Amino acid sequence: MNTYDYIIAGAGTAGCTLAARLSEDPAARVLLLEAGGPDDRHPLVRIPLGVGKLYEHEMFDWGLSSEPEPNLDGRTLEAMRGKLLGGSSSINMMTHTRGARGDYDRWARNGATGWSYEDVLPYFRRLEDWEGGDSRYRAAGGPVQVRRGRFRDPLNEGWKAAGKLHGFETNTDYNGETNEGFGLGQYFIHEGQRVSAARAYLRPAMQRPNLTVATHAHATRVLFEGTRAVGIEYLQGGATLQARAEAEVILSAGSFNTPQVLMLSGIGPAAEMQAHGIRTLADLPVGSNLQDHLAVMIRWERNDHGPFRAQMRVDRMAVNMLRAWAFGSGPATMLPSDLFAFVRTRPGIDVPNIEFMFRCAVLDPYLWFPGVRPGYTDGYGIRPTLLHPRSRGSVRLRSADPRDKVRIAFNAFDHPEDLAELYEGYECAREVGYSAPMAPFRGRQIAPDPALDTRAGIEAWIRRTVITAHHPAGTCAMGNGPSAVVDPELRVRGVERLRVVDASVIPDMPSAHINAVVFMIAEKAADLVRTPAPVRDTCEGMVVA
Ligand SMILES: Cc1cc2nc3c(=O)[nH]c(=O)nc-3n(C[C@H](O)[C@H](O)[C@H](O)COP(=O)(O)OP(=O)(O)OC[C@H]3O[C@@H](n4cnc5c(N)ncnc54)[C@H](O)[C@@H]3O)c2cc1C
Repeated sequence: MNTYDYIIAGAGTAGCTLAARLSEDPAARVLLLEAGGPDDRHPLVRIPLGVGKLYEHEMFDWGLSSEPEPNLDGRTLEAMRGKLLGGSSSINMMTHTRGARGDYDRWARNGATGWSYEDVLPYFRRLEDWEGGDSRYRAAGGPVQVRRGRFRDPLNEGWKAAGKLHGFETNTDYNGETNEGFGLGQYFIHEGQRVSAARAYLRPAMQRPNLTVATHAHATRVLFEGTRAVGIEYLQGGATLQARAEAEVILSAGSFNTPQVLMLSGIGPAAEMQAHGIRTLADLPVGSNLQDHLAVMIRWERNDHGPFRAQMRVDRMAVNMLRAWAFGSGPATMLPSDLFAFVRTRPGIDVPNIEFMFRCAVLDPYLWFPGVRPGYTDGYGIRPTLLHPRSRGSVRLRSADPRDKVRIAFNAFDHPEDLAELYEGYECAREVGYSAPMAPFRGRQIAPDPALDTRAGIEAWIRRTVITAHHPAGTCAMGNGPSAVVDPELRVRGVERLRVVDASVIPDMPSAHINAVVFMIAEKAADLVRTPAPVRDTCEGMVVA
């Protein structure tokens, strides 16, 4: 059995960051296990516009989806996750958003001691290389390059003017002092290519002799001596292998798979594990508290033809993709959505409750060419998104076989206020969409059907069409109460030398897409691992067998 100091399972946003930071110490031997392959250099991963094809062909994806959702007419929700070096950061939409000050202050108030806004700001700054340079809030020189979006479309000016009419100001930097308002996008894109966690952190660290990266290595369970984690078991090339960790085991397999590995190791709800014949080591609410952002899209036909449609002409797109691949320049290095808005739809709340994502293209664009395949009628849309859902879902084992996919239940709209609040977001988005500055662009409304003019009709449409924004979080929440799986130092309660570092530790959703949040968590975790605090478990209601 090979021996390391740290073993990290999962080379996604968090795992790549941690592996790179922990291996900065040449004396620390680090093993990083990744179930997927080294595909982060695939052209469709590197070229920003390649996401369309990645999604269409479900490339480098775990292929997960929810169980039928009771409040969505029994629909299942697709739940994409990256399965390659860089994890979901290698297949995501590359939007860089941090959230609001109040999100982190709420975390700290509710038991995540040490995670207030002032506590996490240095880590948001440490991770980034912002093209706007250093300030109190932003920083240049970090490993993750963040650049302003380059896509230009007159639609964006229309939206901003429309927002202003409704009292939403333009925000020139939504990752600065406040995230509120209508702002141009900031992206994990540099020199025309995706900046994944693999590119930013892992690849530069891979030459280090003290860092071992094993791909196609599927972690199955943590190995224990008593309650102390001492290693990990994993499948690779048809063999079952084990590796020993002298300092710590760290799970970074993401919000769906970290709970699976924990439960297979005997850490989770006792009854659930018992049902699958797994002996309980620590009875913890692993897999509960699942949350995600929920979104619908209002869509219109467009009176003019936008710049994105022009680039979808097949000869132009061929040149665009080649240009992006060879030189990192041109239209394929940008996404047709360069505006985001974080808004409060009513007074009396301290952080934005709704996000609008704008799309300067139809949902299903296709390649066209005059005389061969006619171009499509252009369109655009606005996606109101519920930022702070109150409903809670779960991740449960399907079986004790680690190769089986977990059972995911989002329980969307289980809490009645969620549907009401998303409806409020819809109303607000619709008003902005129908205001005068949008008139020159606005054609026929495609979705929802304009004939649906009652609240009940719109709510039914929301249930029929809502999707998640692919930000699952919270399934191993940090905190101090009985609902916490990890303490604020991210140590799994009731056992020793085992941490969780990924989106699953997020206690509740920030007003942000969460890739930057996970980078921040991993940066802070690296410091926690390197300078351990004394063990202190103040939690009640936990059984250690
Ligand atoms: C389609 C999509 C679009 C998104 N768009 C955005 C966006 O624009 N902006 C944004 O901020 N966020 C976005 N996100 C969300 C963001 O990318 C994720 O929240 C973030 O990457 C999660 O990081 P993580 O480290 O928790 O998990 P992941 O990055 O998912 O990493 C988990 C890693 O663990 C590996 N793994 C899993 N199980 C095992 C196992 N048993 N053994 C070994 N390895 C294992 C996986 O293969 C993966 O590499 C998007 C996500 C998706 C899927």
